Amino acid sequence: MGSWGVVMRVYLSLVCGFLLASCAAPAGGGGGGGGTRDVWGHRAGPRGFRTVVLDAGHGGHDSGARSAVTGVKEKDLALDVVRRVQRELGRSFEVKMMREGDEFVDLDVRAARAAQLGDILLSVHFNSGPSSVRGPETFYWRVDSYGLAKRLQRNMAAVSPGERGSRGLVRRRLRLTRNPEIPCVLLELGYLSHPEEARLCSDAGYRQRMAVAIADAVKEQAASGDAGMGVLPPPIYAPPSRPTDAPE
Ligand SMILES: [Zn+2]
Repeated sequence: MGSWGVVMRVYLSLVCGFLLASCAAPAGGGGGGGGTRDVWGHRAGPRGFRTVVLDAGHGGHDSGARSAVTGVKEKDLALDVVRRVQRELGRSFEVKMMREGDEFVDLDVRAARAAQLGDILLSVHFNSGPSSVRGPETFYWRVDSYGLAKRLQRNMAAVSPGERGSRGLVRRRLRLTRNPEIPCVLLELGYLSHPEEARLCSDAGYRQRMAVAIADAVKEQAASGDAGMGVLPPPIYAPPSRPTDAPE
């Protein structure tokens, strides 16, 4: 590639390192299509579902965030966690993997493919930002994803020593929270830019506890739907997230 490619790559890696720019970055048209699914997702959350789509964030030439503390790449940690969640869900659910190895999959492709593969989508990421910030965060947009997101955040927060209360549950329109035609949640398991949390995230035992917490939330949602999750948020009508959106 020419120098422009190099410049763009440097720029993208800088952008990618910061908060959600790396993860869910603004987003594309994606799926669209009609069918019987409610593309807005303004309905109660899922219950009794059987097929879970697990999306390991980034991959291939897109490494996501890279920890200055441990040197690990977000794409590798995400794939590791997704495999652990798959094992934990194993017998009671059918699990579909968005990527099996270190390969790049476009965000719009992920969004469109999700509904073809299963009933709910979990996209797994690790975060990056100021070195003082830590704790897991869960992003959702659709009403039908709220209960699942709340369960996931609650369970991850119980594992993380850095989480304080429920500040990590965030409603945000991203390509993987708005565009898939199924309930969809984007998880940030921790900040690779925080020294202590970066070391935790490099620990296999910690990632396993996180994976169990995530799998348990999925099982709880399948068994109980939104029961116990409180009042659902109001619908917000907004178009699909596109690559040209301003970073959020
Ligand atoms: Zn990410």
